[in-house]
Amino acid sequence: MGRVNEPSFRESVDLMFNRAVALMDLPPGLEEKIRVCNSTYTVRFGVRLRGQIQTFTGYRSVHSEHMEPVKGGIRYALSVNQDEVEALAALMTYKCALVEAPFGGSKGGLRIDPRQYDEHELELITRRFAYELAKRDLIHPSQNVPAPDMGTGEREMAWIADQYARMNTTDINAKACVTGKPLNAGGISGRVEATGRGVQYALREFFRDPRDIEKAGLTGTLDGKRIIVQGLGNVGYHAAKFLSEEDGARIVGIIEHDGALYNADGLDVEAVRGWIVKHGGVTGFPDATHSIDGAACLEEKCDILIPAAMEGVIHMGNAKRIKAPLIIEAANGPVTAGADEILRKKGTVIIPDMYANAGGVTVSYFEWVKNLSHIRFGRMQRRQEEARHQLVVDELEKLSKAAAIPYTLSPEFKQKYLRGADELELVRSGLDDTMRISYQSMRDIWHDRADVEDLRTAAYLASITKVAASYRAKGL
Ligand code: GLU
Repeated sequence: MGRVNEPSFRESVDLMFNRAVALMDLPPGLEEKIRVCNSTYTVRFGVRLRGQIQTFTGYRSVHSEHMEPVKGGIRYALSVNQDEVEALAALMTYKCALVEAPFGGSKGGLRIDPRQYDEHELELITRRFAYELAKRDLIHPSQNVPAPDMGTGEREMAWIADQYARMNTTDINAKACVTGKPLNAGGISGRVEATGRGVQYALREFFRDPRDIEKAGLTGTLDGKRIIVQGLGNVGYHAAKFLSEEDGARIVGIIEHDGALYNADGLDVEAVRGWIVKHGGVTGFPDATHSIDGAACLEEKCDILIPAAMEGVIHMGNAKRIKAPLIIEAANGPVTAGADEILRKKGTVIIPDMYANAGGVTVSYFEWVKNLSHIRFGRMQRRQEEARHQLVVDELEKLSKAAAIPYTLSPEFKQKYLRGADELELVRSGLDDTMRISYQSMRDIWHDRADVEDLRTAAYLASITKVAASYRAKGL
């Protein structure tokens, strides 16, 4: 972002918000109240590392407290700045409202290149940052619940949870102070891949309606669709993996920090991921053409483009040249407001970030509920469910024997039907349901209202309506 003549990330989000509220009938005061970011806390703290004190700058921004706790990840990157966390916090407000996760919006960031530090140093830095936030209730099970984002993952969340627990020794709900924790530290099955899974479920729902497929100028199903993914981090990797392994899509391009891989016959996502882990980048990967200019690959021909890395990668400078008829924003803010306008005029369909990547916060919501209820999902019901299914199977077999019907239930059917759902299956079912229902709420607005041109505006309309209703219920 920060390109000449383009608004900043936060301004870009505000412009998109403004386009939507222009179509609504909100009192102007409420419109302003929803748009603005409530507060941003900046902290500078020192950590003694390698014999000297190093100073770090971090932020936690709270966009809207119409529901509490507020929710949103913590990002570790050198590019972190106040404008960015405020934009991301605003997107969290709209995202949570759209998918009905009962949270306000927040986001945090630490200006750091995590690759420059070893694990022990990162732990010291993370604990100190968590301490600074927790002592101001900016990490708190009922006030503000962080999660992973770019540059952070399960490991950092476990440190944050432990730091909070040390500072709040009698808080029985301490684990609910952060989500995205490892399973053994109070996490939930399926959280790591949740955002990528959500992207897959979103595309499946898109392809269920012939009108939507037609709007993008596509035909058929996900099977055989050519996909280019930018960023093979947690989100991009899981989305690409599931779409290629389970839906028959072909990942023809993968863009990383050191260039792009292209193979018209499809890339082996697992093999590329393994190569990146081993060599630090995609350079040298066999079975593909490598080009140093990664961004140029965004402009290659394909059916679906999945930007899953950073904000602002599709901007006014390259939007005209993007050929994909369908873009799904797995990252937050990958398309600038200016680029959005260019693409809209071209007829490109964009499945917007606040919906497309909401799988992460949706499963975070399930994890938070799990922590507050102190019990794993499915623990009470699973065997009871199995016993009831067994009753049906036994009865059917008895009946067919008595009636001398030469038919028996197949062992595959029995195995599938008899198994009660475990936590992972329940999480997937809850995520699938959330992604379907929230897509449908956008789709209805998109198709029914003549003044709504695109899914992004539809998403803003659906979510702002909900935020406004909460404020009104509070008497504002
Ligand atoms: N950082 C993720 C996001 O941008 C997840 C947030 C969460 O789980 O709270 O949506």
